[in-house]
Amino acid sequence: MRLGIFGGTFDPPHIAHLILAEEARVQLQLDVVLWIVTPYPPHKPHGHLTEWPLRVRMVQAAIADNPGFELSLLEGERPGPHYAVDTMRILRSRHPDDTLVFLMGGDSLAGLPAWHRPQAFVDLCDEIGVLRRPFDQVDLPGLEAQLPGLQARVRFLRTPLLDVSSTDIRERVARGLPYRYFVHPGVAHLIEALGLYRGPQTADR
Ligand code: ATP
Repeated sequence: MRLGIFGGTFDPPHIAHLILAEEARVQLQLDVVLWIVTPYPPHKPHGHLTEWPLRVRMVQAAIADNPGFELSLLEGERPGPHYAVDTMRILRSRHPDDTLVFLMGGDSLAGLPAWHRPQAFVDLCDEIGVLRRPFDQVDLPGLEAQLPGLQARVRFLRTPLLDVSSTDIRERVARGLPYRYFVHPGVAHLIEALGLYRGPQTADR
């Protein structure tokens, strides 16, 4: 099996996440993409992070109509901090014979050296599927110098750049601007039904 692993905050999940995961599934011939909702990401302020169960519900709604996508509650099953290296170690022990392909945006790739135990993380990934992101600054040879073995693992996906972010969507909701086409209809429905991102404080974080 070729297993895609897609971790994120998903507050909320948006179309660039879906496009990244689906392009990776097809271009990298993945049998399944596991979506892992990080409860409390070590690298982001937790200030107004939407509760983990609600983010899980939004991801469920976003991926329900794609049989190639699966939700994983792996990180919710252990106390934080939730480092990707630990998640990969657990997945490696659960799937000893599978090829593990971690998926991320170009901004995450550029920031990889600042992750917790980045060399161990890279060593645990068989491949790293990357969707470039507007304004990311990926210097692959520079990253390779810091994390030997990274370059050979990176697979850039061929897709247009997508200038969509959860931050922008939260701001749009808070300001009453249109946002529905930036997310799956099921996610838009939940944002409305649960009244998420309404307060001005959510826009400022
Ligand atoms: P926020 O705006 O709250 O920081 P985000 O839009 O970056 O959120 P995350 O849940 O943090 O979303 O992202 C999960 C993964 O998806 C990360 O690896 C990120 O780089 C990637 N990603 C998110 N949006 C895009 C995009 N527009 N293009 C490429 N990759 C993306």
